[in-house]
Amino acid sequence: MKKVLFIDRDGTLIKEVPPTYQIDSFEKLEFYPDMFTWMSRIAKELDFELVMVSNQDGLGTASFPEETFTPVQNFIIKALINEGIVFSKILIDKSVPEENSPNRKPATGMLTSYLGNAEYDIANSFVIGDRVTDIQLAKIWVAKQSG
Ligand SMILES: [Mg+2]
Repeated sequence: MKKVLFIDRDGTLIKEVPPTYQIDSFEKLEFYPDMFTWMSRIAKELDFELVMVSNQDGLGTASFPEETFTPVQNFIIKALINEGIVFSKILIDKSVPEENSPNRKPATGMLTSYLGNAEYDIANSFVIGDRVTDIQLAKIWVAKQSG
């Protein structure tokens, strides 16, 4: 069975940028110091599949067009791959909080395919993130697992 690290993007791999928190230009992109070092060690030395799980509020709307997000996202992914850090899946929720989307963290909709999937050792998997919603995601999920 595969163990997974579900890893947040903004505030975890790269810095968050107030007030909009939208990384919609290269000027706003800053990797956390030592992130590549430690993520690279995680990827090489530990036995976890890596899955990126990110809320991107209003992505695809006029205030946060995909064309501003995608080049930066692609650059991030390529930079990670160059250091041997390969995400098997990149899960992004584009809704805003008011929509109450079942996919928006801390809701677990984006992780549905891992839930009750015999291929995965979820009991020994982890969520890594900077916000309380990342912790809640893990807690809600554990509650769902145990029924
Ligand atoms: Mg975050």
